[in-house]
Amino acid sequence: MAAFLTGLKDLGLECLENTDIFGEKKQEVKQSEKTEKPVADIPKEEDLLYEKTLECPCCGKRFRTKVYKTGKAKLLSTDMDLRPVYEGIDVTKYDVIQCEYCGYAALPKYFPYLTQAQRKLIQENICQKVQLKPYEGGVYSYDEALQRYKLSLVNAVVKHAKNSEKAFVCLKTAWLVRGYRLEQEGMEKVDAAKVEELQSMENENLQNAYQGFVEARKTETFPICGMDVYSLDYLLAALAYEVKAYDDAARLVSGLLTSTSANRRIKDKALMIKEQLQAARKAE
Ligand SMILES: [Zn+2]
Repeated sequence: MAAFLTGLKDLGLECLENTDIFGEKKQEVKQSEKTEKPVADIPKEEDLLYEKTLECPCCGKRFRTKVYKTGKAKLLSTDMDLRPVYEGIDVTKYDVIQCEYCGYAALPKYFPYLTQAQRKLIQENICQKVQLKPYEGGVYSYDEALQRYKLSLVNAVVKHAKNSEKAFVCLKTAWLVRGYRLEQEGMEKVDAAKVEELQSMENENLQNAYQGFVEARKTETFPICGMDVYSLDYLLAALAYEVKAYDDAARLVSGLLTSTSANRRIKDKALMIKEQLQAARKAE
């Protein structure tokens, strides 16, 4: 049962609140860098977005969706688990495509592809029940973006997506929630209860992402979510570190460091996890 999915009632999907994300088939986070530029020079979120028209593969209607302009926003840094940190915009907010008519939602990489059987499952379990609210304003709030991620996760479960797709949604949800938490922590009056709630939501999604990618590593063929074996092992090491599965993290890191085929860049990143692991274990 996924605590993260409580709140689906707002979307009319309370029947899916107790979804077991990975159970159906047997058939420290780095602080984001603060920019030192004066506020006036930082591009506004709405200026980094445009609207694109897409055709929904589930209901066939055409709808408009907000997309960020790749290449326009400046990448400031990347967290250990690959979350990108851009200047002026949290791009993760815009990484779910959702049809405003029927509620079909997925990450862009998966959105266009639905089999007949998947379409039927989504129509019966989501489209007939979902109640979507129109968005206000030119940008998505974190709460709006979070609803889109929840909807894309239940869509993935309903259509029997591969573990890697579900894990990818959980990973990006953890990125989104981290962005939300850092925003809350940067406020003048910090709401401690909200920060704690977001931290726990982030941990739950990191845990689910880790579990899903471990399964995918065992059962799926590469590339997995666009990653080769070394990139995925690096991501698994980072997630294992974050969910405090330190033995798994150490095993994965040493596999990467002793590999004769992993490239220098991945090895350097793996070394950074190794150092953090040693520090975390000392602190235990
Ligand atoms: Zn649709």
